Amino acid sequence: MTQTPANIVLHAADVHKHFGGLKALSDIDLQIEEGKTHAIIGPNGAGKSTLLNVIIGRIPPSSGAVVFDGTVLTGKAPHEINQLGISRVFQTPEIFADLSVLHNVMAPAFARRDGAFKINMFRSVESEAEIREQAGALLHDLGLYERRDGHAGALSRGDKRRLELAMCLIQKPRLLLLDEPTAGMSRHDTNTTIELLRKIKMSGMTKVIIEHDMHVVFSLADKISVLAQGRIIASGLPGEIKDDPRVQEAYLGGALE
Ligand code: ADP
Ligand code: MG
Repeated sequence: MTQTPANIVLHAADVHKHFGGLKALSDIDLQIEEGKTHAIIGPNGAGKSTLLNVIIGRIPPSSGAVVFDGTVLTGKAPHEINQLGISRVFQTPEIFADLSVLHNVMAPAFARRDGAFKINMFRSVESEAEIREQAGALLHDLGLYERRDGHAGALSRGDKRRLELAMCLIQKPRLLLLDEPTAGMSRHDTNTTIELLRKIKMSGMTKVIIEHDMHVVFSLADKISVLAQGRIIASGLPGEIKDDPRVQEAYLGGALE
């Protein structure tokens, strides 16, 4: 396998994924730099969600490997990968519909506290009151605080997505993966979410974001990779991607003029 530079927290190396005869991912080499926001863009069906699913262990790659902070993730179960510090916001929100909004946010914090991390005696154990306070603060930042006691299942689609974001953030992941976090949201909710993502950016959390809204991508990303037909056709700084004729041709169609 190729060497991974020290500032790279996640490296997907030579990843391929076939679904029968369909090549969903080919020759993927993706390197995510610590503390940066890395956007993955590309048309529908390009393989973006498949790539995230490979990273989080939901889909085994046909070949290749994913390495996170020196640990090979390939072959590990999703919950093991999550315990290593990787959280993901799904394209379709996955929440506990019958629990209150607040308890949805608290649940992953208990899982983190009582899971594999409990063997780390240097880690301070958070009390229920501390977890409740953190959950309340996150709901406040996301504009959901007023709804904290209602059933999560009663939230609108956009609110469910923001709830799921809070459920990820309370785990304090080292790497946050976001699959179209603003899909199905109103312009107002999109702006609230972007503001929060900007705050997270300042906190230094590493993020990979899949997003179709170019306004969101170019306002948040430090680096952009373009996926088309399962291949990364370009990777670089936002300015480089904007000016890349291959990207313009394959995907953006002059949308960035
Ligand atoms: P994107 O997220 O970029 O829109 P996806 O990763 O969802 O694209 O899909 C990439 C390709 O792989 C598509 O052609 C899709 O139909 C196919 N695909 C995704 N998941 C599966 C699966 N579980 N079984 C078969 N084909 C799949
Ligand atoms: Mg997708």
